Amino acid sequence: MNAATAARIDPRFNTTRARSTGTLVTLCEGDDLPWMLICEEHAGCMEFQTKREALSARSEPDNWCEWCMGNEPEVES
Ligand SMILES: [Zn+2]
Repeated sequence: MNAATAARIDPRFNTTRARSTGTLVTLCEGDDLPWMLICEEHAGCMEFQTKREALSARSEPDNWCEWCMGNEPEVES
C-alpha cells in the first residue's frame, strides 16, 4: 500500500479487535472491490463492495478468514 492509499483510509476505521475471535482485524482499501478486511492474526482477507458490508463483517472474522473458520487453506510457497 502506498502513502496516497494509506492517507485515504479513515484512521477511525483502521484496526480493531474482533468480538468473536479476539483477534485484530484491519479495514482498508481493497484491490478488486472498494473495501477489504484483513485478519492480522492469519493474514486472511475478504473484499467487500460496500463499507457497510465490511463493517458488519469486521467483528466476525470466523465468517470470512479461512483460518479463523478453522480451515487451514493450502498456502502456495
Ligand atoms: Zn483469522
